[in-house]
Amino acid sequence: MRSVDYLLPADLGEALEAIATLPAAKFLGGGTNLVDLMREGIERPDILIDISRLPLADIDRTDDGGLRIGAGVRNSDLAAHPAIREQYPVLAQAILMGASGQIRNMATVGGNLLQRTRCLYFYDETAGCNKRQLGSGCAAADGFNRMGAVLGASASCVAVHPSDMAVALTLLDAEVEVASRTGSRRIPMSTFHRLPGDTPHIETDLAADELIVAVHLPPLEIAARSRYRKVRDRASYAFALVSVAAALQLDETGEQVTQVRVALGGIAHKPWRATLVEKHLTGRPATDDEFAAAAKAEFVKAAGGPTNDFKVDLAVRTVVAVLRTLRDSGGAG
Ligand code: SF4
Repeated sequence: MRSVDYLLPADLGEALEAIATLPAAKFLGGGTNLVDLMREGIERPDILIDISRLPLADIDRTDDGGLRIGAGVRNSDLAAHPAIREQYPVLAQAILMGASGQIRNMATVGGNLLQRTRCLYFYDETAGCNKRQLGSGCAAADGFNRMGAVLGASASCVAVHPSDMAVALTLLDAEVEVASRTGSRRIPMSTFHRLPGDTPHIETDLAADELIVAVHLPPLEIAARSRYRKVRDRASYAFALVSVAAALQLDETGEQVTQVRVALGGIAHKPWRATLVEKHLTGRPATDDEFAAAAKAEFVKAAGGPTNDFKVDLAVRTVVAVLRTLRDSGGAG
């Protein structure tokens, strides 16, 4: 049995000083992913810095009319917040389709963004896995890979990002506020997570001495007419085969698309903003045929394997279904 030291910092400054000076330290928030990874021997920190009692659990209105969500806000609390339910329904829906009630009660916003892939081989220490040990190969490439990526994968890794919440945040142009002992910065959600390339073990742009302290949502009128749909093997407590977050705004006739946003989950190493769908549809008729043509354009470069190429057609049909629902409710979610 390995022993792990435990530190309860008095304030944020002490936590940031600790992570910068203690090798092999890890922050502990809700622990819903990290503790599992430690049990499996995949994460082996020497010391846990418990940030669960730091004042990071507020949701505040910002001067521009957006929201600043503390990184320690529990997933359940965020999904239930009136401003999220009314102004950003896609985010509430995405959170409630993730994990289980018990896990959502513990899991935090910051931890949700940093959760690791659920690729089966990542958790199997007898299998080659470049994400767990760079240079050891990728057992999923020729193995059972039903959950795997069809966009943006590399020869090094074909895993997908497991978060539902992150897909909604990508749709909403959220920004991640991070802090270190030398200052703070904001990282757009679109660049926070990385594609695998030849360094699949590096999953985000977060530096080793940085802590996520908040997520910022901009004021966004179209977000009130947004929706999340998740397709999975079970009705609950399962990761997405494909998920679609979308927001749609129509003109006064209700027949033309004036604005559209689409983000996809379950298909890539990071939440995938479907910019080709958005480009194709803006200013076009809001018909099922146009929705399908736009969705197919996003997947022209898709590359699946024999066990997961069904995802391309599934994703196209799910995009069409979500946009149709938004259109038929007058652009409203
Ligand atoms: Fe590891 Fe990625 Fe390959 Fe899965 S897909 S075995 S996480 S390298």
